[in-house]
Amino acid sequence: MPTAIEIFKHLPKKNCGECKYPTCLAFAMQLANNKAKLEDCPYLSDEGRAALAGSSAPPIRLVRVGGGENALEMGDETELYRHDKRFFHPTAFALRVADDLDSEGLEGRLAYARSLCFERVGQVLRMDAVEVECRSGDPERFASFVRTVAEAIEWPLMLRCGDPAVMSAAVEMVKDRRPLLHGASTANLKGMAALAKAAGCPLVVCAADLEELADLAASARQEGVEDLVLDPLATNLKELLERCTVIRRSAIRKTFRGLGYPIYLGIPEGRDGMLMASTAVMKYGSLLSFEGLPAANALPLMVLRQNIYTDPQVPIQVRPDLYPVNNPGPEAPLLFTTNFSLTYFTVLSDIEKSKVPVWLQVVDTEGLSVLTAYSAGKLTAGSVQAALEASGALQRSSKGVLVIPGMVARMSVKLNDATGLHIIVGPKESSGLPKFLRSLE
Ligand code: SF4
Repeated sequence: MPTAIEIFKHLPKKNCGECKYPTCLAFAMQLANNKAKLEDCPYLSDEGRAALAGSSAPPIRLVRVGGGENALEMGDETELYRHDKRFFHPTAFALRVADDLDSEGLEGRLAYARSLCFERVGQVLRMDAVEVECRSGDPERFASFVRTVAEAIEWPLMLRCGDPAVMSAAVEMVKDRRPLLHGASTANLKGMAALAKAAGCPLVVCAADLEELADLAASARQEGVEDLVLDPLATNLKELLERCTVIRRSAIRKTFRGLGYPIYLGIPEGRDGMLMASTAVMKYGSLLSFEGLPAANALPLMVLRQNIYTDPQVPIQVRPDLYPVNNPGPEAPLLFTTNFSLTYFTVLSDIEKSKVPVWLQVVDTEGLSVLTAYSAGKLTAGSVQAALEASGALQRSSKGVLVIPGMVARMSVKLNDATGLHIIVGPKESSGLPKFLRSLE
């Protein structure tokens, strides 16, 4: 990786700031730390671009499995720690099916994979892919099984088989779906690489020793396969943590391209598997393949993934608008809250529990919660009034009453002045809403 000074030599030195950095040197420093992209400078010469192309490549290659709206993207990460910026591509979860299943067993397993679907703070959490494993060793049986799976589910596919000769017919069958092929080892690298290259599919290379893994990746590239995924063959928590950390550190801190690829991990069933999976979500797993995943484990894992891969600088938000809750009419009161998702969904659920019809106005506070928004000056009498006007709330509710969160009781007078509504201070905690709203009736 060139230093900032070496990069700087190739920049136009106009110091125009169009790259969003005040000087070319500042831009060079960001580039050296993988925090900027070459394309951000519109004045870079072709020679400069060619000289710096390597330094602007992502430290971890972006690999796509599948296509269209179901495509799965992995890699292209730039950080070792989430709080330095953010993690970009959430760890994908795949459920494994093997070709020793009969059609009823397969149907049940795919239906189960689909059923692992939950909604939380307005986002849908679900499985992402299916891994099809060859256990029969029979090319025809495997190909036919893969075709059945491909017809039954539109998710991205992974094909798992150690023998390129057995894998070949199955790959041919679904190559348009761009499946991920697992996997190449020292024993079968040439055959697997030839298969992946001919079909235009990404390939997993597998080795427990990380130097051997980097050599395998280099050999696969020499054979013409660029889209690679690394399987460090971790069989327990210690191996997983050690190997994933070394891979990520080498790629990000040392810009070692030999290990600059997404990471695949096979997750066993049981408690140890759960520990491995939750660690892998936090520590650099790109794709986890589960032998089995009980729903009681799937939900917390998906919530963990959602939390880790949410941009820490951008709170999850809901659309500011007027929301009817419990089928309100004109006599229903108005309530307001902020557009921070966690706040909105907590308030919504408590109002629903009360069964009292209410018009809920969501005010845009850039995703901040009530008290934080108020303290930051983003929740004011003026912004509440503007939100009520924009949503037409006063035409929907003729009761003339606005219930405000107890945390911002001090807004009462200004809100009354701004809206002309009778202000009622609600409970400080959302959990008090059911009892409070029933008392209004
Ligand atoms: S846009 Fe290019 S020329 Fe302008 S300051 Fe940035 S690096 Fe320099």
